[in-house]
This record gives sequence, C-alpha cells and structure tokens, in this order.
Amino acid sequence: MLKNAREKLPTPEKGEDRFQIPKVKGQIEGSKTIISNFNQIADTLRRKPQHLLKYVLKELATPGTFRKNAVIFGSKLAASRINEKIQQYAEEFVFCKECDKPDTKITKEGEVYYMKCQVCGARYSFHSKI
Ligand SMILES: [Zn+2]
Repeated sequence: MLKNAREKLPTPEKGEDRFQIPKVKGQIEGSKTIISNFNQIADTLRRKPQHLLKYVLKELATPGTFRKNAVIFGSKLAASRINEKIQQYAEEFVFCKECDKPDTKITKEGEVYYMKCQVCGARYSFHSKI
C-alpha cells in the first residue's frame, strides 16, 4: 500500500524546477548594444561579471566593456544571442553535471577548473579556454 501511494506522487522531471537564468535586458544604441542587467545575471549565477563577460565576448567575437552595472557591446546583437551564450556559460561553469543544481563552486589551478557541487558533493575538473 505504502509503496503504491508513493509511486503515485508526481516526481518532477529533471529540469522542470530548474533554476532560471534571468534574460538580458538590452537596447541598441547606434552600433552598440547595451545590456543593463549584466551584473545581476552574474550575481544570480554567483560568478564574477568579468568572467562571464570574457566568455560571452569570446563566443560572440565582439568587443565589450563595463559601464557601471551595464555592459556595452561594440556591435548590434540580438538579445537572444547573448542569452544563448549566458546559458552556455552556465552549462559549463555553473550547473552541476551530476544533479543539475547551480550551487557549485569553481576554483582554478593553472589551466584546469575544478567544480565542486554544494548539493550532491560531486567534484570534477574541466578545461576551458577562458
Ligand atoms: Zn551536484
């Protein structure tokens, strides 16, 4: 009986209650793209904005700099392209590969990154060009 009851409980699918990455808020100004909530996104991911920006700039092959809390990209970019790269960054540097939670810590030793998950305790190393 107990077993049956438990089996009837809905079990969340992997990813269903997944941590949501905020979407960029941006506007085009002339030939530049200004993202006003870049630092907030980095904060939510608990990563350094500089690190996130370095990754995004490299992936989009565009220049960009910080201006207070905003980031100014030196070209016209669709918000969806920036969101895509932030998502990609999160897959690489934030989400645990074992349990998919964002509660991870990254350390870097030489060229190697180490990710330690605060939830399931998984620890592994990976290489990245940034
Ligand atoms: Zn984990």
